[in-house]
Amino acid sequence: MIPIALPLLDEAEAEAAHAAVLSGWVSQGPQVEAFEREFAALVGAPHACAVSNCTSALHLALKALDVGPGDEVITVSHSFIATANCIRYCGARPVFVDIGAEGYNIDPERVAAAITPRTRAIVAVHQMGMPCDLAALVEIADRGGLALVEDAACAAGSQINIDGDWEPIGRPRGDIACFSFHPRKVITTGEGGMITTRDPALDRRFRLLRQHGMSAPDTVRHASPTVIFEDYLMVGFNYRMTDIQAAIGRGQLKRLPELVARRRTLAARYGEMLAPLGLGLPGEPAWARSNWQSYCVRLPDEVDQREVMQRMLDRGVATRRGIMCAHREAPFANGAARADLRLSERAQDRCILLPLYAQMSEDDQRHVAAALKAELRLQA
Ligand SMILES: *Cc1c(COP(=O)(O)O)cnc(C)c1O
Repeated sequence: MIPIALPLLDEAEAEAAHAAVLSGWVSQGPQVEAFEREFAALVGAPHACAVSNCTSALHLALKALDVGPGDEVITVSHSFIATANCIRYCGARPVFVDIGAEGYNIDPERVAAAITPRTRAIVAVHQMGMPCDLAALVEIADRGGLALVEDAACAAGSQINIDGDWEPIGRPRGDIACFSFHPRKVITTGEGGMITTRDPALDRRFRLLRQHGMSAPDTVRHASPTVIFEDYLMVGFNYRMTDIQAAIGRGQLKRLPELVARRRTLAARYGEMLAPLGLGLPGEPAWARSNWQSYCVRLPDEVDQREVMQRMLDRGVATRRGIMCAHREAPFANGAARADLRLSERAQDRCILLPLYAQMSEDDQRHVAAALKAELRLQA
């Protein structure tokens, strides 16, 4: 059986978790602090704040920006549902725009067209690890006085070329970037998230909000020779990462360059193997380098998506359908007038994601390609 994804964890992470367990400090503590420092250095961000997952990261990002009832936030429907949910958590209204004609990312022109006097922020997703057009989005956000949040859940290790230089996703170019360490992503802590920003005031708000609005965290009180009474400055949350997770994350960070290089090799090989099959294959714009968190192919019009996926599963190959559309799910299917989301719907209905993980062999990939080819021929 070839799974859709497989995290790469070994004795190094197991020993790190072991040491954290025996250290006597298992909630947010010195490991979280070190993980934040190392992640910030890796993406070139002045500030990185670890949280319990990327959904809580996105929630805190919008909270820290004071997004609330009456506000509109422009984003894609074509994303994991957490992207849209975080807007609703704040009582604001998600305004969905379609993806571009090439690839699976938000269309900056449609963002510009969707701006109203109520628009407060844009949440732009680097879908499946492929950077979205940040240069265009930053300009639109600046012109409109809007905040730009990057949903970089899938994009640790992806790069973008702006102003002639390659830089990692997460510096960030927007105001805030949010990462996920769920096992489906390129590096994992089981559950986990990270928020990066260049703005020290935002970073301070993330740190308060993730921990009940507490002025002096337990780590500070624990280390203090004098008695400290903490204050609670705002309605916060408990969105902490544990030191056990952070210890695992530090091990994963060391692997990130190697994991991304490996995934790029695998994606390039898929490109060669699948070229003769008449599929729509994913490609990088000249200014983007994906970490290939997922490899998404578009099926020819005449074949049945579910049938292809079922027959591949029968042949021992797990796949997933194209990225979901939030506006088709109960919480967002409210019949409200919305922009044309035809490209998003087509991508969900016509695409499948193929297995991709670092441990995959060339034989595994050949097996995937053969299973897909056999099924396409059958349906042709
Ligand atoms: C996975 C994912 C999330 C949610 O991440 P969690 O860490 O599981 O909360 C949000 N947005 C996108 C685009 C994702 O792929």
